[in-house]
Amino acid sequence: MILFKKVSDLKKFVEAQRLMGKSIGFSPTMGALHSGHMALLHTSQAQCDISIVSIFVNPTQFNDPEDLKKYPRTEGNDLAMLDKEGCDVVFMPGVDDIYPKNLPETPKLDLEGLDKVMEGAFRPGHFDGVVQVVKRLLDIVAPDKLYMGQKDFQQFTIINFMIEQYKLPVELVVVPIVREDSGLAKSSRNVRLSEAAKQKATSIFQQLSGLRAALEKFSPKEVETKFLKALEIAGLEPEYLCIVNGKTLQPVSDFSKESYVVACTAAWIEGVRLIDNMILKQ
Ligand code: AMP
Repeated sequence: MILFKKVSDLKKFVEAQRLMGKSIGFSPTMGALHSGHMALLHTSQAQCDISIVSIFVNPTQFNDPEDLKKYPRTEGNDLAMLDKEGCDVVFMPGVDDIYPKNLPETPKLDLEGLDKVMEGAFRPGHFDGVVQVVKRLLDIVAPDKLYMGQKDFQQFTIINFMIEQYKLPVELVVVPIVREDSGLAKSSRNVRLSEAAKQKATSIFQQLSGLRAALEKFSPKEVETKFLKALEIAGLEPEYLCIVNGKTLQPVSDFSKESYVVACTAAWIEGVRLIDNMILKQ
């Protein structure tokens, strides 16, 4: 496994691989790696000649400075895990490499409302930061395929939109959510939870799993209210449940009339914000 920290070194490596006709798969991460991240790597390894994983905690996507400060950093562990899984290249740039002073400013992309709902409504500016860093990383790595997790449903939907808008020559591959045996979605933030909190947090998956059946009997609005109540009873502080069209991310009013529906949620426990989702119809 090769570790690059400098943009110019990574670019040289990628150019050489391209000249040899190798395909490049790229999985961007913020580190504190777990089996969810490994699923991206494994999919990339199955589909591409060279798999690159980046580890970069992007400051511009954190709307809450406390969250950035507390974000887990486990560099040694991350590198050992990637090496063990046969990752070809790790890219670990510093903030000054990603955002050098002389970098020409790109105009902000109009996300046409995709960034105004759900995570965007609760984390203002978050998706501008995500779009900024993924665009910059794609410019540097220039992969054939980009791997992202379904875990961050709104994120991959927005990145897909960005790829279409800029007509970038990359294919986005979405990897299904990896969960603990308990159903809790794997997340870097889970390490900050006590065992009791992890147990309570399993109610997120349990409640998501009951939504499809509930929507046969109740309206999306009624189902949302019941879901939030159930999470409160389980000891969480839910922020939202949104039952939305999987492409536009706009709320669904009649479940039976839609062809692509996803339920996305965010909830707090022990000061940790967890997100999860489930595709209800596709
Ligand atoms: P992060 O390090 O949290 O920014 O995540 C990096 C990438 O890994 C994103 O594309 C996430 O959607 C993906 N990811 C994180 N957790 C999971 C999971 N439990 N299952 C699948 N993909 C995940």
